[in-house]
Amino acid sequence: MTAELCDLTAHDLSAKLAAGDVRAIDVLESTLRRIDQVDERLHTFLTRTEGQARTQAGLVDERVARREEVGPVAGIPLALKDVFCTKGIRTTAGSKILEPYVPPYDCTPWERLQAGGAVLVGKTNCDEFAMGSSNENSAFGPVRNPWNLETVPGGSSGGSAAAVASGQAVWALGTDTGGSVRQPASLCGVVGFKPTYGRISRYGLIAFASSLDHVGTFTRDVRDAATILSAIAGHDPRDATSLPEPAPHYGAGLDAGVQGLRVGVMEDWLGTEGVQPAVRDSVRAAVDRLVGLGATAETASLPHADYALSAYYLIAPAECSSNLARYDGVRYGYRAPGGGDVMEMNMRTRGAGFGDEVKRRIMLGTYSLSAGYYDAYYGQAQKVRTLVIRDYEEAFRRFDVLVSPTSPTTAFRLGEKTEDPLAMYLSDIFTIPSDLTGTPAVSIPCGLSPDGLPIGFQIMGRLMDEATVLRVAFALEQDLRFAARPPLLEALSA
Ligand code: GLN
Repeated sequence: MTAELCDLTAHDLSAKLAAGDVRAIDVLESTLRRIDQVDERLHTFLTRTEGQARTQAGLVDERVARREEVGPVAGIPLALKDVFCTKGIRTTAGSKILEPYVPPYDCTPWERLQAGGAVLVGKTNCDEFAMGSSNENSAFGPVRNPWNLETVPGGSSGGSAAAVASGQAVWALGTDTGGSVRQPASLCGVVGFKPTYGRISRYGLIAFASSLDHVGTFTRDVRDAATILSAIAGHDPRDATSLPEPAPHYGAGLDAGVQGLRVGVMEDWLGTEGVQPAVRDSVRAAVDRLVGLGATAETASLPHADYALSAYYLIAPAECSSNLARYDGVRYGYRAPGGGDVMEMNMRTRGAGFGDEVKRRIMLGTYSLSAGYYDAYYGQAQKVRTLVIRDYEEAFRRFDVLVSPTSPTTAFRLGEKTEDPLAMYLSDIFTIPSDLTGTPAVSIPCGLSPDGLPIGFQIMGRLMDEATVLRVAFALEQDLRFAARPPLLEALSA
């Protein structure tokens, strides 16, 4: 199939727009056509915004026609996970409790992209309140993986990953609390990047677990990840955890190569039971490529990372039980009908408005925070978190980056893990540690399994050192030249 405009990278499109070869409206119409062709099967979007998108694209074209300089996000079709508040556009967090919610304000990342001329095509489907690894916890039904419609796209930002993989958006934002950008990127064959905690403002983000929530990006290549990150990163006085340091321009230095760089290979993760042989082989082959490019590779270890998953499933539910207390049927969204007093209304609303996984987390979190259990559970988990942070600090004295599979497996079948929460939780075993530490990490596609599903390679970096992570990812991407596309797209032109 010849690539349509909607299949190109943002940097290719941006060059064409600046040269006057295409108009933003052409790029948008190509994207909207693709959405019409595939969204019904994939269920990527919860809300589509084509009317507004046409206006935004028209404004970019007018500016170009006036020979005004436009930036790198101008005219590029974007999708936002439905946890980013968008003024006047419904924002559900994949939950029935927020089904009718229309925010009165914009989140900072969208505010910045909008100012740069971005074109929003829609809000993407996700696991309810970003809790999940397969998108099957969305109150509005799951997303399907464009590589194989019987499999999941990963989660919780599965809609954003599937949108970018299928040409329904050129890039997208998601959130990563335990892996929700990197894991779906891995399962959908796109680049998923999570910068340092606080690098991108969380203002206007529907909170899941505030000390772990990171904004992240989905792109077709590493250069685009650097570009969109540069557009949204940087201090925001409205988010108290936002980093005060000015964000560098991440595009500079991408092509500096990996000569002499010290790569730590997470051998014990590769040896973990449950890692598919094809995943193991592809990751090892990618490490060899890095060595071929001049890096050194040695075994690294993070001794306490084995406890990261357990600590995460105490800390994240604890924070979510507090964050989700605000959905009371009074202030936001849905209220269950019926009589009785406020307490009864509140209980009915939460009973009907939240799905099973969200309720499970609220109960786990409330329990672990309760008097008598706090020290044994939440307090212990915080200590483990500190130990994992120290492990990373120690490892980064010897290594510039650490590498591993992003997820132990490729995309699994819909329904395969829904009855077994623990099996589902294990999908994030390699991504959760970098959320506990707040350190940057990326997933890039590094190959296909024998059954034709993408495999993700994870590169983890030092706190604040997005630049090295992106540089390694860029070098590897240039060398691997992963160019496979979902069969669904090939079939469109057949
Ligand atoms: N799958 C993990 C969870 O369910 C991570 C989710 C996320 O990163 N938002 O908590």
